[in-house]
Amino acid sequence: MDKEGKKTKTFVSTFQLALKPQARLCRVEKQKENGLDKRTVISNDIKTVSSTTDARRTQAQSLEAPRFKEPLRDCAVCDGTDACFQGVITGSEPLNISWLHNGEKVPSSKIYFWNGVASLSLSQCSPANAGTYTCTAENTAGKQSSSAVLYVKAIMEIPRTDRYDLQSDATEKVASQENTEQLSTLKEESQHREEKDKGPPVEFIEPPEQVEVQVGQQARLFCEFRSSCVPVACCWIYNKDKVVAEGPQVSVRSSGTQSSVIISQALPKDTGSYTVVARNRAGTAQHTVSLSVIDRPDPPASQPVVSQLSTQSLVLSWTGPSYDGGTAVLGYIVEVSQVGPNESTTWTELTNCCKNTSYHVRSGLEPQGEYRFRIRAYNSAGTSDPSQESGCVKMATTAKEKKEKPGSYITVTIDTKHKVRDHYNVHEKLGVGKFGEVYRVTHKETGQECAGKFYRARTTKERSAARKEIELMNKLHHPKLVQCLAAYDTRSEMVMVMEYIAGGELFKHIVDENFEHTEPTSARYMQQILEGMQYVHKQNIVHLDLKPENIVCVDTAGTRIKIIDFGLARELEEGKPLMVMHGTPEFVAPEVINYEPVGLETDMWSIGVICFILLSGESPFQGNSDAETFALVTAACYEFDEESFEDISDQAKDFISSLLKKDRRDRLLCTEALLHPWMVSFTPLTRRPTKSLNKEKMRHFLAKRKWKKTGKAVLALQRIANLSNRPDSPGSSSEELGWSQEAEEAIKSLDRQLQAEPRFQHVLKDITLPKGATAQLKCLITGYPQPKVKWLQNEEPLSESRRVTMEQHRDGLCSLILADLKPSDSGLYVCKASNKLGEAMCSAKLKVQL
Ligand code: ADP
Repeated sequence: MDKEGKKTKTFVSTFQLALKPQARLCRVEKQKENGLDKRTVISNDIKTVSSTTDARRTQAQSLEAPRFKEPLRDCAVCDGTDACFQGVITGSEPLNISWLHNGEKVPSSKIYFWNGVASLSLSQCSPANAGTYTCTAENTAGKQSSSAVLYVKAIMEIPRTDRYDLQSDATEKVASQENTEQLSTLKEESQHREEKDKGPPVEFIEPPEQVEVQVGQQARLFCEFRSSCVPVACCWIYNKDKVVAEGPQVSVRSSGTQSSVIISQALPKDTGSYTVVARNRAGTAQHTVSLSVIDRPDPPASQPVVSQLSTQSLVLSWTGPSYDGGTAVLGYIVEVSQVGPNESTTWTELTNCCKNTSYHVRSGLEPQGEYRFRIRAYNSAGTSDPSQESGCVKMATTAKEKKEKPGSYITVTIDTKHKVRDHYNVHEKLGVGKFGEVYRVTHKETGQECAGKFYRARTTKERSAARKEIELMNKLHHPKLVQCLAAYDTRSEMVMVMEYIAGGELFKHIVDENFEHTEPTSARYMQQILEGMQYVHKQNIVHLDLKPENIVCVDTAGTRIKIIDFGLARELEEGKPLMVMHGTPEFVAPEVINYEPVGLETDMWSIGVICFILLSGESPFQGNSDAETFALVTAACYEFDEESFEDISDQAKDFISSLLKKDRRDRLLCTEALLHPWMVSFTPLTRRPTKSLNKEKMRHFLAKRKWKKTGKAVLALQRIANLSNRPDSPGSSSEELGWSQEAEEAIKSLDRQLQAEPRFQHVLKDITLPKGATAQLKCLITGYPQPKVKWLQNEEPLSESRRVTMEQHRDGLCSLILADLKPSDSGLYVCKASNKLGEAMCSAKLKVQL
């Protein structure tokens, strides 16, 4: 690091979490005095303006993506005071800096960027300022964000025990006043004290619910609390199971008013719920904070696949990353490299803000040019490594149109003599399914592009299932159904060659920004699905796995769809009831879950679910767990959410309702459904302009489906499970919450940690008072379990009477009140405190003047 860089580092490390703006500005001034030629441009989107020397240096170096060398830190301030967030950013200039508060842009007057330090100042914070602040730094090499939470709390009350002023001369003051009046004041004071003692033993003060940090950053889970008495013992439990241990990576710090866990370099495995249990002598309270450790996403899972190739344009489609880094993927960067004679590869960005998994490349490509493509995904934590590169793509000389050719169907005979590679070249993987993997293949002689499903066929059962699918496919010749073109069955492999469907999943298309999504277009898709399924059902075949992933588009521009994946399809036989135990929870019909006979109507239910999602983006039966989903399906329990179906016609809702019938005999079949008024009302002739439907919910639905399909979803599901089982209701017992044995032990040990032998924190004081006055001898005793207190006068035990009152409060304050003093009250008073751990005493002289 250069000299200036080092300076920046020390400069920043002196900053505190909630630094006042004045203080920060002073430091800025100081840097200027040091003669550093840097300027600050203040706007919401800030670009740094560097010195000429810097500019030259930057040009000479390769571009460095922005990185938060020091991330933002959570900050807690009192109502009315100032707060400031700071982050230190490295990376090539110019850097674009922007700030968000709870997702909203922060006004430029509050933000600064100077010498690698991005800061945000908030003066006189109110609760409205609380929330998550995200700073994003971006340059042409990439971008990174850092987030932190601001807590704004009411001015904190001082714990009661500290407030009680034992150091003052209260006793003497009391004694010098009139006796009866004073006695009643003392009693009132005592009652007031008792009332206060009735509050919650430990109370958390606006504790955080959620903390999000990036991988490798420090995660700080901080909870402040008010305790009715000291001491307070705390422990932290991770996912209701493990006790958060101290170590080089993790530190747990607790005091009488707060407890925190600091993970110095958080990893995705640290994601989960952290429960702090705080115990004092009077009781326990707990609060759960959920931590998300986010990372940049994995690269897109598949290489980009090319379709709609013409002279100067093509469409790229790919699959999203198998792990999104713990936070939503925000978009993709598409890169191209020209394949030339000099083998050096340079990658150029075609776009850095593609929001879907397909991209239409319309410029920058030459006729007959040869190119490779690759994709990067990005989220708020950063940009992924690139995906695998596409194969070399040669641009066409003349554009040619491909059209659907109905009628040219072939019946396939399974080839047992050849291997697929004898006839086809095998290229990139297109997808993975339940029964195997699908690759793009091209015929060696004709060059015809196809999809080859390579079955997992190790066992006899697997082989016969594969053969069954091929046999069924031979019966399914319809433009709306994927066609089988060839099949190979040798000892080493079983492959079905199908027509290649380039367009990808329908739902993914719909969410594309350029795609029209309205109720009439949705009706058109449903009509195509019904036409395809009508044909399937005519053959007495049930698909049994109809779901959005199995409805694909013929091409990227297209509104034409096809149904794929007949892997679970079965032929119905007269008089032979068929029961199945497979399918996808969100889409299966009640009879499947109940293991009752299935029929053609079973597919109709799934069509109803698809239509529901298509129109609203909501999955009608999706529960928080598969068990919950199954319960909702078997009860046929769903509703048309008012907001989600706001723009949807009653006819469409009626169409769905006539498919989502619990009793399968009540559901419409394909032919009836095609005649439903909703279908008929949208014939091309009656097409009229209609409102575009909201795609956000559909995007959310797709993101959820993607998670479920990936192995790493376990992480996310665990995260969701952790959140939904949060043990944060203060009244519930640990048994209801299902603590592990280890957690139970840790909570029990809190009580042991509180135990202490009696000790006088404030001792009795000698006093002299006139006859007839009221004396109060006060002391403060600590110790747990609560010490038993005895009072002695001249070594004789004292007991309460009309004139003698003894008091002991939860916070340890003990007093002996003697009203209407008599000369015989003079003497040596001893206060003796004992519990199972020991005994302590203190004494004072009382002199009654005549
Ligand atoms: P399985 O029956 O093993 O579940 P699928 O038939 O669902 O497998 O195929 C798995 C994936 O392969 C699909 O989700 C899709 O991405 C891709 N795929 C399948 N068939 C084709 C095809 N004909 N053309 C293009 N891609 C296909």
